[in-house]
Amino acid sequence: MITRSELKSAQRRALEYLDRAHVVMTAKEREQIEVSDFGLSKLEHFGVQTLTYFNTDRICAKQIVLFPNQICPEHWHPRVGTDPGKEETMRIRWGLVYLYIPGASLESAAMDRIPERKDYFTVGKEVILGPGDQITLAPGTVHWFQAGPEGAVIDDYSTTSRDVLDEFTDPDIVRTTKIVD
Ligand code: ZN
Repeated sequence: MITRSELKSAQRRALEYLDRAHVVMTAKEREQIEVSDFGLSKLEHFGVQTLTYFNTDRICAKQIVLFPNQICPEHWHPRVGTDPGKEETMRIRWGLVYLYIPGASLESAAMDRIPERKDYFTVGKEVILGPGDQITLAPGTVHWFQAGPEGAVIDDYSTTSRDVLDEFTDPDIVRTTKIVD
């Protein structure tokens, strides 16, 4: 849950990052930034700001903004009918991203950067991504990521995105953000 004023300020702040990263947007797009708190009501720690350019029944492109040290919690994109699940390529446009995927357990430095709910972060192979770096995640790959100390702007390209069907390790996560006045 976030308040309407938190929503507005997060949208404004995300725009500052997008401008800093020289992302070109229409006036209409500038008003369409989505803010997600994953139902945890701790947007500074756990959240993402997203601008979706298009999401057809085959492909999707988004801009993701992370504030400093903000975490997108551990999740995966499951099979939906005949679709094996979202395949996703993240390419960093600005800032630094720590991405975690299966293959190792979490190092203590990474664990220390998680402010709370540490039990719900299980994959720990670290991939550090800076401007121009990219990675493609196969459908179903468990992953989570965190911005570095200055935040990050990510170009996110994928097959069809169905955010509400994403699955999360943390049982308290709700994908739809509730906004209160
Ligand atoms: Zn994902």
